[in-house]
Amino acid sequence: MANHKTAAKTSGKTAAAESGKTRITIAYGDGIGPEIMAATLSIMEAAGAQLAYDEIKIGQDVYLKGMESGMEPGAWEVLRRNKVFLKAPITTPQGGGYKSLNVTVRKTLGLFANVRPCRAYTPYVESYFPTMDLVVIRENEEDLYAGIEHQQTAEVVQCLKLVSRPGSEKVIRYAFEYARAYGRKKVTCMTKDNIMKLSDGLFHKIFDEVAKEYPDIESNHYIIDIGAALLADKPEMFDVIVTLNLYGDIISDITAQVAGSVGLGGSANIGDGFAMFEAIHGSAPDIAGKDLANPCGLIHAACLMLVHVGQPKVAERIMNALLKTLEDGIHTGDIYNAAHTLQKVGTKAFAKALIERLGQTPAKLKAVSMGENIKPIEVKVRPTPPTAKRLLGVDVFLHWTGEHRNPHELGQILESLTGDQLKLKMITNRGLKVYPDGFPETFCTDHWRCRFVARQSLHGMARSHTPEADVIYYDIISLLQRLMSAGLNFIKVENLYEIDGQRAFSLGQGE
Ligand code: NAD
Repeated sequence: MANHKTAAKTSGKTAAAESGKTRITIAYGDGIGPEIMAATLSIMEAAGAQLAYDEIKIGQDVYLKGMESGMEPGAWEVLRRNKVFLKAPITTPQGGGYKSLNVTVRKTLGLFANVRPCRAYTPYVESYFPTMDLVVIRENEEDLYAGIEHQQTAEVVQCLKLVSRPGSEKVIRYAFEYARAYGRKKVTCMTKDNIMKLSDGLFHKIFDEVAKEYPDIESNHYIIDIGAALLADKPEMFDVIVTLNLYGDIISDITAQVAGSVGLGGSANIGDGFAMFEAIHGSAPDIAGKDLANPCGLIHAACLMLVHVGQPKVAERIMNALLKTLEDGIHTGDIYNAAHTLQKVGTKAFAKALIERLGQTPAKLKAVSMGENIKPIEVKVRPTPPTAKRLLGVDVFLHWTGEHRNPHELGQILESLTGDQLKLKMITNRGLKVYPDGFPETFCTDHWRCRFVARQSLHGMARSHTPEADVIYYDIISLLQRLMSAGLNFIKVENLYEIDGQRAFSLGQGE
């Protein structure tokens, strides 16, 4: 480890380029990070990887020194210069504290696709699914991981789910291109568009559009709940899976676990010109510093990285030695099994055993074979076409308690404040319509969504201020002024649009 650090500090970019080495950025991370990184670097060196390293410091120690970003000064510059990053896991506190640095790096560098290959190593690593061999490709920048959360009332907290057309198209195209490049036959999309008809609906719609351009690849779609259940029960039926960020996060851990251990999986975070490689597991503070950690996840990630930087044969050498080590029954504690473990080892001894097997191939497990020229996958998204947008109304969210939280009482107050241009269409509580015609049994929180739309003209036609809008922003502003004067506490407004002739907002449940 010390050697690599010294090399990183003393050699410059030009020196690395001259020596034919690819210069990458590494971070030792938190918890078990330093142990598994040291093991991985020693294996790459022994396998003949042509790499030079710049080490950056990120994670808990940096936060504790008062640097809120979790990165030491200058780290971004190194990341941007080298473009390839091998990162050990870092600790992110739950429920509070600093933002996830992993998510920040992924988003800042535009790493839109998170690729997690996952196969079984039975019987050497126990799994019920000996033939499973799949890849989860997860959208990596959007969805609920936008990290936009607000507590809006005493009782209700909101997390915004953002799904974009270019963000979805990029990762979906990547999944099809990946399938082609790696000889995979099928791409499965998973969403929850029966419930989130607009956001997950957009992802599914784009999947269907893009799938038509790849007639050589089979494609299908599952609702995420049944998809996740099938992954836990019949993972062999899947090949490449593409899905939104949160679902992908969850199902890639399910697949790693049913394949044998989360300690085995590696992942590639791919962007335009940038890439970050990491183990899928976390910093495992419970076993940190004890020489117990399985380094296979980071070794895997390093192999994905070697393919990315054009050294696939080194990756192949390492992967085959790793398979041979597992086959020879040399296992870390997390994959110990009485039937096939001959030697239970720590992190260092596992790395040593793997290095001794470099150049060997497994006898029973399927050996890894890489082509010489695996080109990085590039995707281009279509430009978003111009859209025609009409403002049809507004949802005003209120923090209101009233007496007995009676929706009818709130409805009456609002009816008296609507003005000439707008009318109150409905009130919902947690998405369910409670006014007009609500049920007294419905439980209501202090968080109300009040929908206002254009009043109809005397002739039954919608009022029109301009050729393209039924409501103008001024109507909304004057409505808010009236609500404020009446002592109502509005939390936020959400405009209601029609886009290209289609309603661009969800209806209230029960509407
Ligand atoms: P974890 O993956 O660190 O650990 C879950 C369990 O698996 C623990 O029992 C651990 O001992 C075991 N385990 C994990 N990796 C192992 C390995 N290589 N060898 C043997 N056993 C292993 O998940 P967690 O406990 O939920 O998270 C711990 C911390 O890691 C949290 O702060 C979390 O935010 C962070 N985390 C970071 C990343 C990342 O850096 N990419 C990813 C996930 C979690």
